[in-house]
Amino acid sequence: MSDSTVRIGLVLPDVMGTYGDGGNALVLRQRLRLRDIDAEIVEITLPDPVPDSLDIYTLGGAEDSAQRLATRHLLRYPGLQNAAGRGAPVLAICAAIQVLGRWYETSSGERVEGVGLLDATTSPQQTRAIGEVTTNPLLTGLSAPLTGFENHRGGTTLGPDATGLARVTRGIGNGVGDGLEGVVQGSVLGTYMHGPALARNPELADHLLCQALGVDSLPPLDLPEVDQLRRERLRA
Ligand code: GLN
Repeated sequence: MSDSTVRIGLVLPDVMGTYGDGGNALVLRQRLRLRDIDAEIVEITLPDPVPDSLDIYTLGGAEDSAQRLATRHLLRYPGLQNAAGRGAPVLAICAAIQVLGRWYETSSGERVEGVGLLDATTSPQQTRAIGEVTTNPLLTGLSAPLTGFENHRGGTTLGPDATGLARVTRGIGNGVGDGLEGVVQGSVLGTYMHGPALARNPELADHLLCQALGVDSLPPLDLPEVDQLRRERLRA
């Protein structure tokens, strides 16, 4: 590893990795390596303190009990909060939106204080949102539709400090009737898209990488199989 190696934090894959979301870290590493930029994944598991020195962080989805463990760990070791405070990009998938929010209610009605990086609160809805979700991004710099697979019962309400990542064209998204999917606040970006989200949305992956590297753009990659996967998902 050299000083210029980009270090990607895969946060708590042992508890927040139920849906293959660890693939997002692989996608980030691969898109860097294909551009001849050194990159490595740093796995932060339950016994480990969360370092604040990494270049980018990803967190995956999970069930309620695992979510609670992760919340406790992130509050005990506030490395993620410190990193986000200095502008390091953080990608939060599904349950991770809820964990990073102000509070969330579990499906049994218990209210859990969140990490507070996102001005968002989550409560269980009548029906579970399961299926393909397709959206149009609201975030400057993204133009292609976003696509993923959602599976959550929680509905997330955004407060004034947060904005939606995208507007839903198919599926449920945040699920509270405002038509929004995902959340953006500072360098923290959350989405209900599994899939993993970055394999299905290369523009989103490069957006996060640009933030991590402090550049406006990266050279395009010619990856026909990724384009084909996107076409298939958008057609489905
Ligand atoms: N337990 C949460 C919910 O159902 C998150 C689920 C997930 O991460 N897929 O809302």
